[in-house]
This record gives sequence, C-alpha cells and structure tokens, in this order.
Amino acid sequence: MQSSAELIAHEQHLGAHNYQPLDVVLSRGKGVWVWDVDDKRYLDCLSAYSAVNQGHCHPRIRQAMIDQLDKITITSRAFRNDQLALLYEDLAELTGAHRILPMNSGAEAVESAIKAVRKWGYEGRGIPDGEAEIIVCANNFHGRTISIVSFSTDPTARRGFGPFTPGFKVVPFGDFAALEAAITDRTVAMLVEPIQGEAGVIIPPEGYFPRVRQLCTERGIKLILDEIQTGLGRTGRMLAEEHEGIEADVTLIGKALSGGFYPVSAVLSDDAVLGILKPGEHGSTFGGNPLGAAVARMALKVLVDEGMIENSEKLGAYFLEQLKGIRSDMIAEVRGRGLMLAIEFKPEATKAKSIVYALKDRGVLTKDTHETTIRITPPLVITRDEIDWALEQFAAVLM
Ligand SMILES: *Cc1c(COP(=O)(O)O)cnc(C)c1O
Repeated sequence: MQSSAELIAHEQHLGAHNYQPLDVVLSRGKGVWVWDVDDKRYLDCLSAYSAVNQGHCHPRIRQAMIDQLDKITITSRAFRNDQLALLYEDLAELTGAHRILPMNSGAEAVESAIKAVRKWGYEGRGIPDGEAEIIVCANNFHGRTISIVSFSTDPTARRGFGPFTPGFKVVPFGDFAALEAAITDRTVAMLVEPIQGEAGVIIPPEGYFPRVRQLCTERGIKLILDEIQTGLGRTGRMLAEEHEGIEADVTLIGKALSGGFYPVSAVLSDDAVLGILKPGEHGSTFGGNPLGAAVARMALKVLVDEGMIENSEKLGAYFLEQLKGIRSDMIAEVRGRGLMLAIEFKPEATKAKSIVYALKDRGVLTKDTHETTIRITPPLVITRDEIDWALEQFAAVLM
C-alpha cells in the first residue's frame, strides 16, 4: 500500500492541477465520518459539496445500486428501460414537476436548461432567432463548461478560456431594481441559485424571491432555480424555493440526487419549457440510464423515509445557534439555513484556510471559499451529539 505522501506526490506529478485539495487522503466513509489511509477519522462537514446529503455509502442506496448492477446498467435512450419512468414518477410526486430531463452532471443540467429555455423563447414567445437573453446574478456558480463560465463573474473561472458564449446579462444578487432594469423584450429567463453556495452561503434579502417570481410571471420570463446544491434537503426543505413560498418554472437538481454514488442530474420544468424539445434536439448517452435511475430513486426515498430533511431543519437551526454562541474576535458573521452554514471571518483577523487546516488537525473537514469564509455542510444524517463534538473543535480553534 502506498503512503499518503506517495499518493499525493503521484497525484501532483500526473494529474492536472485544477484543484488544490486539502492534504488528506481518504479511503473510506460511513455516514458523516470518513477515514484517511492512516485510519484517522474525520467528521465530513463538506459532504462533497452536498453530493452526499444522505451520508457516505448509505446502505440502502448501496443495495439498490447492487441490485440494479445485477440486471442492466445502460440501454442508451435509443431503447427504453424499466427504471426511468419510475424515477420520473417519484420526481414528479416529490417536486411537482410536469416534465423531466435526466442528465449526469450539474453543469449538464444547467446547459440543458439554457438550451431548452432559449428554444422556448423563439418558438413560444416569438423572439428573433439568436437573440434570447438570460439574466444571471453576480458571484453565481453554475458549473464549469464554456457557456457557464461565460457568465461567471469570477476571474479565475474565466481567465484564458474565451471566446465566450453571448446572450447573458449579469445583475447583483438580491437587487430587485437591477433585475427589473435589465429586462428587455428579448429576456427569456432568469437563472439563479436560491442561496448562493460557492459565493459563501449568501442568503438573499427577505421578500426578494417572491418579487422576482411575480415579475417573471408578469413579463413572461421563465424563472430557473439552480437547486443543485440547495435542493434535496440541504436547507431543511426538499427544495429551497419552499422557504420563499414560490415555485420555479424550471428547477435544476443534481449532486445528492444519487446520494454520491453516481452522477445523476435532472432538469424539472413546466410543460412549456421541456415540452419544446423534439427527438434528436438534445441528449446524453448516459442520461436516464437504469443504473442512475435506480440509484436516484433510492437516494430520494431515503431522504424522505429517514427524516433527513426534518433533521436538516432542526439540527441546522441548533448548529447555527450554537456557532453564533462562540465568542471569537475572528468571526464577522455566522449564517445559514438548514444544514447549509457558513462562518465569515474578519479579513484582518485570519485567513479561512488556516482555520480549515486547524479544524482538519482536530478531525473536522471543511472548505474555505473566497479567503474569508468556510462552509459547514455536513451530511443530513448528523446527530446532535456529533454536532456537539464538532462545536468543541470549532470552539477550540476559534477562541
Ligand atoms: C455543483 C454545482 C453545479 C455544477 O455541478 P457539477 O456536477 O459539478 O457539474 C451547478 N450549480 C450549483 C449551484 C452547484 O453547486
């Protein structure tokens, strides 16, 4: 067996350096816990960016995957399979979606929504061909493809990757007047995260989304909510839009849709948007395959059956309140909804990365973002005792 230092050296030598991982080499996981190659245990407070909301290696999802592996894994959409319709039914029941498009990664779901909503703009609204505009928000994160980084405002995500895809307009997140001013007769959609995740768990002002919803309805604009990170229980609701009392026209989910076993994403929409696609106009070899569908069905089922969404709401509120109780001169703000939490530090007091390293030494894995913030997003199966243990580690590092 290779040591962690050897594995890190090989990775550095042979891999593209598009990530700078924390130097912890994990070899197994169970629930909220992960172990490195030296058998040191850590509490996972990142959950693979919310891909393992259900906890690592959830036994029922694992079993569903094994059962399906013994039958058939892929048919391609050239033929039908006996799992996809069942996933559609489950998704429609849980989210109210009228039409569903299965894809694999989150970025593919975003790309698919952009394609569908543009086409809807031309055929459904009569916008001149090639002129559709989509409004997005500053500091967004929707993935890494060329079209998606075309409307990123993060220079690191864009620099050197042009030429970019036209047709996007950026407005500040949470600024209703700016959105209103940006709309033209070519605007087909607004694409936005209900809570900005990568930006550092930025919660919009109260009342923003209800007004956005109303404006989009009045102006005939499709509201696309990217719930790839906020969805599936992370914020204490099945979808984060429920906190706002609104319904999107198009909802994007991914990440925890497979409980971390397999890339599965989906576009959920009203009849109009996905109803615009005709045979041959869009597709994916792996999208909608029976293995992914079976895994996703069980990933959704355990979220609901095992009370994970309620746990996220209840223990998220507890975690937030207790973190707020930590008296530390380094902390500027603690915020969050459900188990989507963040601590923002005063820039002059510390770098978020040094807190991440100190927490790692105490057995808690977190991730810094934008130098001043760390995100705390444990699997939704976390218990109160595990949170209390984590809080001791946070207190020790922060005080
Ligand atoms: C992670 C994420 C994506 C991209 O998902 P990938 O599976 O990495 O392509 C898109 N939008 C949001 C909000 C995300 O958090």
